[in-house]
Amino acid sequence: MIYSFAHSDEKSQVFLTILKDAGIDFELTRHDRTVVRVLGQMTVAVESKIAAAGIHSPAINLIRHSEKSCYDQILDRKELTIIAGPCAVESSEHVRIIAERLKRLGVRFLRGGAFKPRTKVDSFQGMGIAGLRILREHADAHGMFVITEVMDRGQIDTVAEYADILQVGSRNMYNYTLLTALGSVNRPVLLKRGMSATLSEWLSAAEYVSRGGNNQILLCERGIRTFEPEFAHTLDLAALVLAKDKTDYPVIADTSHAAGRTDLVEALALAAIAAGSDGIMIEVHPDPSKALSDGKQALNLDQFESLVVRARRIFAARQEFSSHKSDREPNE
Ligand code: PEP
Ligand code: MN
Repeated sequence: MIYSFAHSDEKSQVFLTILKDAGIDFELTRHDRTVVRVLGQMTVAVESKIAAAGIHSPAINLIRHSEKSCYDQILDRKELTIIAGPCAVESSEHVRIIAERLKRLGVRFLRGGAFKPRTKVDSFQGMGIAGLRILREHADAHGMFVITEVMDRGQIDTVAEYADILQVGSRNMYNYTLLTALGSVNRPVLLKRGMSATLSEWLSAAEYVSRGGNNQILLCERGIRTFEPEFAHTLDLAALVLAKDKTDYPVIADTSHAAGRTDLVEALALAAIAAGSDGIMIEVHPDPSKALSDGKQALNLDQFESLVVRARRIFAARQEFSSHKSDREPNE
């Protein structure tokens, strides 16, 4: 459970006193807000005391509180949704450097793998819960949203405690027990297309989530397997366009995993935006040569900055183009 208070809010002291008196463990961080993560079990008596002190809902969605939900912001489509961060969380310092830069660029969605689905069993598998804590801490410091992968239905509660958006990876798109379980979770789900999935299989996977009542779905095209060995996957822009036509869900493109190599990431991202993508997901690293995973496709922070500038320009041009188009339509 997470509670968050403005620094000037005296209720934070009251809250901490209640926790201390009851011997309940907690973690405290103070950045632009005072954020208290309750680690111990709260009894009904303690919950009542907290409620009596006028401290109400746990602030899992807190940043966020004053504004629209993160999913609504994406749905607005007023600006390009940019999700960026490392392939995997490597340390607190690593994420701090990245999050600070993202914040300066106005990027609001911090990604990072804590539980990593790696093809090779000896590859770095992620920091687990420690990684989730790191993501949350640095996202909170900058008012950002966290998006991270959940690999198994048994991880959902834990990941949902720290993340704003739950990612289903390409390798799990066919995991129907996971998808069904996500149907009853109150978190948006970013559903990656399986690397060998047809469009229809991908949309059916989304239906598993929506059937459970969770319609906060973001579709993510991340490239499919083809015969071309020069790059990791082929970004399927036709499927992206059709996914937008056939559903009301926002659709974004992960051009890092599509390309599998740094030099193609930007061109593919710009193409996806021109084709109508609502957003992009990009892997970044302060020093890609030292990355513990997917360094070959990571952009360094300067490369990412120039991508962001160009990506926003293409997005603005596309908006302009579509508004002109609809202005013209009645006379055509
Ligand atoms: C990721 O985004 O970290 C990832 C593993 O991607 P994918 O599931 O698309 O391979
Ligand atoms: Mn990766």
